[in-house]
Amino acid sequence: MKGVDLADRAGRQIRVGLDVGGTKIDAVAVDPAGEILGRLRRPTGWGEDAVLENIALAVGTLAEQVGLSASDIRSVGVGIPGLVDADSGRVLHAVNLGVDSLDLAVRAERALGVPFRVENDVKAAALGAAALRGVSGSMAYLNLGTGVAAGIVMDGRIWRGARGTAGEVGHISVDPNGRLCGCGQRGCIETFCGGGALAKAWGRPGSLPVRDILDAADTGDSEAVALRDDLYRGAAAAVRVLVLSADVETVIIGGGLTSLGERLEQGIRHALLAGAEASPFMRSLHLDERIELLPAGSPAAAFGAALVGAAITEKESVSHG
Ligand SMILES: [Zn+2]
Repeated sequence: MKGVDLADRAGRQIRVGLDVGGTKIDAVAVDPAGEILGRLRRPTGWGEDAVLENIALAVGTLAEQVGLSASDIRSVGVGIPGLVDADSGRVLHAVNLGVDSLDLAVRAERALGVPFRVENDVKAAALGAAALRGVSGSMAYLNLGTGVAAGIVMDGRIWRGARGTAGEVGHISVDPNGRLCGCGQRGCIETFCGGGALAKAWGRPGSLPVRDILDAADTGDSEAVALRDDLYRGAAAAVRVLVLSADVETVIIGGGLTSLGERLEQGIRHALLAGAEASPFMRSLHLDERIELLPAGSPAAAFGAALVGAAITEKESVSHG
């Protein structure tokens, strides 16, 4: 039977994927056919020990939810922000989590007795988005959240580049006189369409600042209109960079700003059309037809993390004969 073939030697079939974000962990349990059997969210916590503890609790609670114990899980993949050494499973400088340096894979494996693999969150989400959307060739996943970054997938594999920087389009400066970016440059794409930068530029209180900007822009507030244009133009610039440098067929847009839904998608589409208007070359690329928005709350990031975990156990079973 197919399911039995896909189990490891202990008969374990279920893979867990965790997307560890600044405030919450999104966890999914995936069966061998790629179906999501269970999903839960819990707080991430702050600092190395708390993050590790909450990861272990997320895995344990999710296992219980699908009727297993943690040790019945075949692999756990974790997508986490920061600088990730995918080979060692070590995480550095995840500043939003209060994590300076964490031997995540080693410590989590020791705690739960299950193989762990760790990947940068956006790269993991890119794999998940490609799988959920059934993209088999080339695609980029553009994450519009507090910050802006992309993951590029070629034939089902993450393209890392020489130093793992491939896809860091948020820090391409498109305006030398623009707003100062957290990275030290001015006018980075992230200063135009990152949720954090937009909230800072808006400077008014509110729990959903980018939504407030769009709502205020709809009523004609000139400051909001300018920031809304920045958002759409910045995201369009990121799409252009991804297609012109890697010629990906599709750019799937995910991240927290997808809660803006249709307005965001149409806004980016119009900015792409407007940007191409004067150029027969750019018009010929049909960029506006090559973007897709993930639905708000999509499990792509956690699902991609489960795929990351699956990759290590496949590799192990091959190398161990
Ligand atoms: Zn920057």
